[in-house]
Amino acid sequence: MSIADNLSSIKAGLPSKVTLVAVSKTKPVSELMEAYEAGQRLFGENKIQEMAEKHDAMPKDIEWHMIGHVQTNKVKYMASFVNLVHGVDSFKLLEEINKQAKKNNRVIDCLLQVHIAEEETKFGLDEPELETLLASESLKSLQNICIKGLMGMATFTENESQIRKEFSFLKSLFDKYSKFQILNSKFSILSMGMSGDYKTAIECGSTMVRIGSSIFGGR
Ligand SMILES: *Cc1c(COP(=O)(O)O)cnc(C)c1O
Repeated sequence: MSIADNLSSIKAGLPSKVTLVAVSKTKPVSELMEAYEAGQRLFGENKIQEMAEKHDAMPKDIEWHMIGHVQTNKVKYMASFVNLVHGVDSFKLLEEINKQAKKNNRVIDCLLQVHIAEEETKFGLDEPELETLLASESLKSLQNICIKGLMGMATFTENESQIRKEFSFLKSLFDKYSKFQILNSKFSILSMGMSGDYKTAIECGSTMVRIGSSIFGGR
């Protein structure tokens, strides 16, 4: 199957309200261009440097999403062009994104990453930390960021019911906190689901799936 075939068969199975992020990390520009020529305009990368290089090399009507863990000192390399930062998990990082967005005269959309998996290694906030962050007065001073919703990764397991439980938990947080007015926006994006688990994620309420290997092949 070609990249174009993979894309069209995945898209055929997605509800219209679910957005597809094509996760192109580690893949060469030539392969991203195959996806571009098949109509894909939204790409996700997990390294800022790599995303910036691809952004420079590729057409300018692409939306770039940073899906990986973000180091504060690298925010400046993506602040002029990034469309959505999925993995925000600290106030300090929000402050830096706000600062760099301001320098570029932009508002940068962000998702807060919540830790829902069993693995210790996955980044993200737990519920009390999420609550504290969203309730903090100092958040109001960050005029150049917009918190659009939540992102999470389920445990890497074959156990469907475990995955379902984790995604449902994230959806319940999304519903709970979307009732609050946060800065100038309300939650509209729930980013959950990868190649192995996106169908379950959609059943649990995902509005944005991040799919890599099922489009571009293994890494
Ligand atoms: C790599 C990655 C994906 C895509 O994973 P696949 O299993 O290749 O679909 C999704 N989300 C994040 C955060 C990733 O790092």
